[in-house]
Amino acid sequence: MTTSHYAEFERATRQYHLLGSIESLLDWDQETCMPPRGVEQRAEQLALVAGLAHERLTGDEFATALGKAERNGRVDEWASATNLREMRRRMERARRLPTELVRETAKVSSLAKQAWARARRESRFELFAPPLERLLELKRRAAELIGFEGEPYDALLDEYEPGARSAEVAAVFDELKKALVPLAAAIAKAPRKPDVALLSRYCPKESQAEFCRRVAAALGFDFQSGRMDVSMHPFCSGTCPHDVRITTRYDERFLPAALFGTMHEVGHALYEQGLDAAHAGTPAGQSVSLGIHESQSRMWENFVGRSRPFWEHWFGPLTQQFTSLAEVRLDDWVLAINNVRPSLIRVEADEVTYGLHIMLRFDLERRLMTGKLAVRDIPQAWNDGMRSLLGITPDSDANGCLQDIHWSMGAVGYFPTYALGNLYAAQFFEAARAAMPDLDDHFRRGSYAPLLEWLRRNIHRHGMRHRAAELVQAVTGRPLSAEPFVRYLRAKFEPLYGINA
Ligand code: ZN
Repeated sequence: MTTSHYAEFERATRQYHLLGSIESLLDWDQETCMPPRGVEQRAEQLALVAGLAHERLTGDEFATALGKAERNGRVDEWASATNLREMRRRMERARRLPTELVRETAKVSSLAKQAWARARRESRFELFAPPLERLLELKRRAAELIGFEGEPYDALLDEYEPGARSAEVAAVFDELKKALVPLAAAIAKAPRKPDVALLSRYCPKESQAEFCRRVAAALGFDFQSGRMDVSMHPFCSGTCPHDVRITTRYDERFLPAALFGTMHEVGHALYEQGLDAAHAGTPAGQSVSLGIHESQSRMWENFVGRSRPFWEHWFGPLTQQFTSLAEVRLDDWVLAINNVRPSLIRVEADEVTYGLHIMLRFDLERRLMTGKLAVRDIPQAWNDGMRSLLGITPDSDANGCLQDIHWSMGAVGYFPTYALGNLYAAQFFEAARAAMPDLDDHFRRGSYAPLLEWLRRNIHRHGMRHRAAELVQAVTGRPLSAEPFVRYLRAKFEPLYGINA
């Protein structure tokens, strides 16, 4: 009897997930191959499926099935315990938000996106301020309804990084800041300067596509369970471990966009392909959080893909593939792809300064949520923050507080997961290295299976069994800290730039 209660709950959970996977597929199609004029029908299709999924999750039928399974469930087994815990959390969150608030947020957000696009084009923050103000009011209301123990921001952060607390994140970021600011300054004064011009040499699109597919396959991307296509903004969309789609984009005058963009998305895809297919469609077969997801993409893109051992294997194939790079020296290539320079735009930031961009947004978002910062004062606060963290001042709001789309989508609480990704990656990578001291030798031979197997065994296979903080503790034996990332940056960049920061 008890098994059938659980089976009923699991069936309902999988159906809810199936609706979500249909939404992802419609999204993927829209970004990769939908004709432009299909956009209106697509919006209707997406709204319909999203509505159905929301109804499923918040309806009485699901609540009853979950309740029965909880009372009679097989909670002794980790996967069912994970599924019950996580679906309870998602349902409660969704049920606390009245349909009217969800609809209003979607409406304001769609207006805000248009206002943001125009404001950025014309670099006029005042065009974006009114809808942003309205959106933040709705977010504050949502936070109150969802509930929180610490501060309102926690309720929003929890959507992307379940269980994370703003105050704890802030403490780790502060620790990180103390190391990043002087390291970036020391690199800026270093005598060794990368020749970044070589990155803009002509590399034909077809050759880039061929090379990127070779790299993706070598890292372990399974093309029988995945696809690689082109989109304006690269992303990874996984609906189950056997259907994982990544995209990239090609710039013939800037090879790193496709090259490292592909490795980044492959990192996300390896996580999705490594989830346990037996638990597909349930939290036991889903990723922990955005931060843990980002740890996988950044590990493959930066820790592996921008390392010297990686290029000791791939530099030969690279210079054969692209005649414009034939005369380049390996050392110059490695230094160029690791160019560190304070810059205005987050998505173009290097490994050292990236975290500082996130700290700025995190600080502003927290202050906006408590009302300590008014929307009209964002441009000034942004510029002050850029000066104190990166030592540069934006020439315009377009290159300052208007550069990211996130706020216009109502995605408040999302940014910290990017920086957390770097920290998780470093702590996992350090543990992987300790377990496999010959990891660099494997990379020199173009062998990635040992690292991938380690990630599969320690992270991927567990789905949402652990919260991010518990996973870090379980895998590395320590709570999250900025130290491994700082150690990693110093060990890499000090010799590269010939400095001692
Ligand atoms: Zn990513």
